[in-house]
Amino acid sequence: MPDHDVIIAGAGPVGMLLGCLLAAHGADVLICERHEDADDRTRAIGVHPPGLAALDDAGVGDAVRAEGLALEGGEVHARGRMLAAVRFGAPRPVLTLPQPRTHALLRERLTRLGSPVATGCRVLAAWQQGDQVRVRIADTAGWQDTTASFLMVADGVRSKLRRMLGVGWHARGRSARYAMVDVPDPAPDAVARLHCEPAGLVESFPLPGGARRWVVRELVEPLDADWFREAVLHRTGMRIEIPAGIRPAEFVAAQHRAQRTVHGRIVLLGDAAHEISPIGGQGMNLGWTDARRLSPLLLDALRRGASDLPGYDRRTARAAADAQRRSAFYMRMGAAATPFEQAGREALIRMLGSAPLRGRAENLVTMAGL
Ligand SMILES: Cc1cc2nc3c(=O)[nH]c(=O)nc-3n(C[C@H](O)[C@H](O)[C@H](O)COP(=O)(O)OP(=O)(O)OC[C@H]3O[C@@H](n4cnc5c(N)ncnc54)[C@H](O)[C@@H]3O)c2cc1C
Repeated sequence: MPDHDVIIAGAGPVGMLLGCLLAAHGADVLICERHEDADDRTRAIGVHPPGLAALDDAGVGDAVRAEGLALEGGEVHARGRMLAAVRFGAPRPVLTLPQPRTHALLRERLTRLGSPVATGCRVLAAWQQGDQVRVRIADTAGWQDTTASFLMVADGVRSKLRRMLGVGWHARGRSARYAMVDVPDPAPDAVARLHCEPAGLVESFPLPGGARRWVVRELVEPLDADWFREAVLHRTGMRIEIPAGIRPAEFVAAQHRAQRTVHGRIVLLGDAAHEISPIGGQGMNLGWTDARRLSPLLLDALRRGASDLPGYDRRTARAAADAQRRSAFYMRMGAAATPFEQAGREALIRMLGSAPLRGRAENLVTMAGL
């Protein structure tokens, strides 16, 4: 008999959500997180309807709704004119909540379910032995081997375990550099605004507590608060205040997919399986839909004493490819553009925002079908 039903390597949002879904159905789950402390990096903020459905299943949807900010809609602007507007709300709500709070709610839920995250616990290696997986784990006491019926690899985009398994990691499309900063909003509202300007994208999203996240594409050095403020002013005519001591953070938006997600009893999920550009805010939500799809298959396989997870790899690859196509489109709309390109994309955005197509545009940006 293996020591555990399932071991999850990585307590990011995806590993934790899967842990909640399995533990709530009585599975014995060990969730290993290499760090001792909570991850306070503010990355994901957007929670889309498929993500919210997964959070509901995990038992934290109400808490996320209570703390999150429900967006009323989104607007696309260029050269001082509004090109398109979409409305959110029932039945397809979109929320913002900084990732550290989402993590905290999932962690608390796991503790209540009796499967707290094992912190300071690094998964070093894993190999399949008959009908179980042997997993080598390091903690303050040294290293030891433990076993499980399945290992879930949710150790993020730079997954060492993926590399150890020899799984191919293929780039999809182009990458681009962006900078972002979260600052107090002097006139808070609940509308996301995208400015597709000839000099490059400026976008801003309301956050709970009267703050706003600003994101800018097409960076120059040195990337500091003065440059960021000037870029927003020059491109949009808007003045933003960046309090002293706050520095914009840079990130690279890139896209990759693992060659395969299922390797016998070892499964990749979340960013370890697919990197989705942050532009469009889909990566964490897509990882949650992976977890939601995977959990009944795992529970069924555990009941049957089997190792097959029918359809999981194919369906996940399709959803990841679809999300990447959407993100690639959003990235193209925010690149610096010649006058000719700018005129073309403004016409396209107007068309997508027009009455006959607006419903489809709302579905696209709220991750319908993923
Ligand atoms: C700037 C930015 C903005 C974003 N905005 C959004 C957004 O609005 N909406 C959205 O849906 N997505 C967004 N994303 C993407 C989102 O942050 C990721 O998709 C999400 O964090 C992936 O979750 P994960 O659990 O798969 O991996 P991670 O969050 O990377 O978690 C992996 C965990 O595994 C741990 N770990 C690593 N190796 C080991 C090991 N060997 N043993 C044990 N533990 C290990 C790590 O310490 C980490 O805690 C954004 C990303 C960025 C960079």
